[in-house]
Amino acid sequence: MKLDDILKRELDSIDHDHLGSSSENPLRDDAFDLSDEEKINIIEGKVHDILETLGMDLTDDSLKGTPLRVAKMYVNEVFGGLNPKHKPISSTFKNKFKYGEMLVEKNITLYSTCEHHLLPIIGFAHVAYVSNGTVVGLSKINRIVNYYAKRPQVQERLTIQVVKELQKVLNTDDVACVIDAKHLCVNSRGINDVASATVTAEFGGKFKDSKFRRDFLDYIKLETEI
Ligand SMILES: [Zn+2]
Repeated sequence: MKLDDILKRELDSIDHDHLGSSSENPLRDDAFDLSDEEKINIIEGKVHDILETLGMDLTDDSLKGTPLRVAKMYVNEVFGGLNPKHKPISSTFKNKFKYGEMLVEKNITLYSTCEHHLLPIIGFAHVAYVSNGTVVGLSKINRIVNYYAKRPQVQERLTIQVVKELQKVLNTDDVACVIDAKHLCVNSRGINDVASATVTAEFGGKFKDSKFRRDFLDYIKLETEI
């Protein structure tokens, strides 16, 4: 199936109930009462308990560092985007080139984690915006995608969060994001469908117009070979 068809099917099937009432991750108010060190300590103990419950010998050389390694990885890396202190500072510039067409940042590598199974989501994000006078450094777009991806996530929510954040940073509604990703909870277990991928899209402002949307989708089909 072509990307366009998949997108259309995806758009048709997403209704607002499915997206839930909020584009925020369900965090508790006390989410940051504990320091990172305290969280790592607690999670290390819990991971130890899981492995021990499974019957693993935690005194084995290969395993004994695993609980701490996983705890650090959760807090500092794969779920590091939960903490607002890791939010990228997006410095913006004046659009002095008067570039008035859409800018597309495509094939942004995406690693996230499905919040239902805590298994990886791996794919690409494609982001576009039309400047209304403000532009942002290209790598900042990658950093914003990365920040929201480093959370227990749902792909629909992640797509919306990227668009909302860029709309805020760039002070325009004219932002779009398509995410095309594999969910290992589908690919490596359960239904074990290695081939399937999930495409989600959020189109703001001008991108709600079918011509604009068409142009964006044409851009992200372009092959980039360096
Ligand atoms: Zn899952």
